[in-house]
Amino acid sequence: MTHKIAVLAGDGIGPEIVDQAVKVIDCLQRELGWQVEMEQAPVGGAGIDHAGHPLPEATLRLAKAADAVLLGAVGGPKWEALDIAIRPEKGLLGLRSELQLFANLRPALLYPQLVHASTLKPEVVSGLDLMIVRELTGDIYFGKPRGIRTLENGERQGFNTMVYAEHEIERIGRVAFESAMKRGKRVCSVDKANVLEATELWREVMTRVAKDYPQVQLSHMYVDNAAMQLVRAPKQFDVMVTGNMFGDILSDCAAMLTGSIGMLPSASLDSKGKGMYEPIHGSAPDIAGKGIANPLATILSVAMMMRYTFNDIKSAAVIEAAVQEVLVEGLRTADIYTAGTHKVGTEEMGDAVVAAMIRNIWRAETGGDASAEKRCMREGGLTNGID
Ligand code: NAD
Repeated sequence: MTHKIAVLAGDGIGPEIVDQAVKVIDCLQRELGWQVEMEQAPVGGAGIDHAGHPLPEATLRLAKAADAVLLGAVGGPKWEALDIAIRPEKGLLGLRSELQLFANLRPALLYPQLVHASTLKPEVVSGLDLMIVRELTGDIYFGKPRGIRTLENGERQGFNTMVYAEHEIERIGRVAFESAMKRGKRVCSVDKANVLEATELWREVMTRVAKDYPQVQLSHMYVDNAAMQLVRAPKQFDVMVTGNMFGDILSDCAAMLTGSIGMLPSASLDSKGKGMYEPIHGSAPDIAGKGIANPLATILSVAMMMRYTFNDIKSAAVIEAAVQEVLVEGLRTADIYTAGTHKVGTEEMGDAVVAAMIRNIWRAETGGDASAEKRCMREGGLTNGID
């Protein structure tokens, strides 16, 4: 079966980092016989430049027809003066709503080699492996009525509506519980049920959904406490599930626990497992074109794609192990560089991950026989790390 991936590189560092992720997909195809069709299309600023719209019709068609979407990042100073309705970021929001991607999965995993890149003490973050599941298409961001009105006394008042229907809470709850079943079997549901009725219902529905997952332990936490606990003792969490606004804030907080925004992948899924996979960072215009961006978040987004859309645990593990290996080897892009490690550029990092993937695949195939492995590598024209 051929898998279809829409590749939307976007703006700024997007094309540079997506190129490295495409190399990883090519490697899966070459080395593991994975059948894939990749097609590129412009989105964001590139969409505006190419077709006058941040989400050109042809791009949306391609994304809808694909099994999964790989996205780089959108936006940049070039398009900042445009009306907000046609800015690059609208391309991203359009994709999320058109593809009905209601579940945002953001793992925050701290690699042991990067413990000192975090702003928190090593003993607080060392071993961190947390999954934030954020609802992405509801809540106060979409609730109506909303706007700015003038009161009788002439003063202006801004207002938004926090709203969640039972089915919206239930479906994100199920994503969280399913995720926990593949991990540590613990879900912490974050709300503000002591003050907000919308989240009182959230808590009630989460408790109901939990009955279908007796192996998973459910706890509830108010959002203010959750923010504090994330920086006090983040390792207490396995899966954290929350609404759109609380998730927006908490997931950025969790991202920084791991040291660099350049390390964190994400998945946004629909109800059938189709997903859009992207690094959590933006287009980083300050470093675009310099060849120094960290491609690992985008490469790890491909691993998430394998796991969540294609249910291909083996390929996901091959990618994740390769990323771990290049970090063990001491390779670092500028954002994660510390004294005593070896600084590399975007391409060099991508090539190193691919080389590590090939090494591991062949190591598995030759049963760890070093001479057979060397022979295989030479035949493949690769000697990196072997001789
Ligand atoms: P940003 O994430 O692009 O950059 C923040 C800082 O992190 C910058 O110093 C940047 O150099 C650094 N950084 C980001 N990714 C990196 C990587 N892979 N390797 C090394 N360093 C990296 O956020 P910003 O500067 O606030 O936004 C820039 C543009 O990106 C804006 O137009 C914004 O709207 C857009 N944006 C897009 C997305 C998206 O496409 N999903 C998300 C956030 C921001």
